[in-house]
Amino acid sequence: MAFYEKILSILLPKKCTFCRKVISYTDKTCICPDCRESLPYIKGAVCAKCSSPRHEGSMPICSTCRTYRHPFSGSFTPLLYEGSARKAVLNLKFHNKEQFCRSFAFLIADKVLKKGFPHIDFITYIPLSPKGLRARGYNQSELIASECGKILNLPVISTLKRINGTPKQSSLSFSERRKNPKKSFFGKDIKLSGTVLLIDDIYTTGSTLSHTASLLLKMGCDKVYIATVALKSKK
Ligand SMILES: [Zn+2]
Ligand SMILES: [Zn+2]
Repeated sequence: MAFYEKILSILLPKKCTFCRKVISYTDKTCICPDCRESLPYIKGAVCAKCSSPRHEGSMPICSTCRTYRHPFSGSFTPLLYEGSARKAVLNLKFHNKEQFCRSFAFLIADKVLKKGFPHIDFITYIPLSPKGLRARGYNQSELIASECGKILNLPVISTLKRINGTPKQSSLSFSERRKNPKKSFFGKDIKLSGTVLLIDDIYTTGSTLSHTASLLLKMGCDKVYIATVALKSKK
């Protein structure tokens, strides 16, 4: 460890994103060994589209994905939105957002690399509305995308826009959530090509990702894969 890092580690100890225990200053993932072992990972058989856990031997695509025919080709989601994962996502606004997003990006990139890394040409992300961005000061999906770009060595391109005045997805019922994205999101006036990895923070109904994936396909992309930090259980 360099001298200035030693000083920094004393003045500003680095803490684990998930349990806030002090960790080594050189740990780039900011996830302590205990959390790395015990995070609520999505394990076993999963839906080939949305990554939600399914029973071994059941259909490879879950009933929700079969009903809604999501236009994305597959997903990379490392965690279930529960316990320490839920807490870390909710805590993001109170702590070092760059560090939190780096940990989330590390977990997503790890999943992408483990799953055999389909050819991906670039990364993009779900935008906030100008009003939403002013209120929060940053877009966590953009920060996660930017960190993923560094780890996977891929360009990150802003491709979508979200307009003001449409209700927040979290304030709506499940059926309203399915209709809302069509009024909120638009593609930028650019021509795209190749395979894109579309990043958001949480997977809930998949309706925002589904609509924005169809926009990216209309803009010229051949394939869209999605990646989120954590998946909210449908129950
Ligand atoms: Zn920890
Ligand atoms: Zn599914």
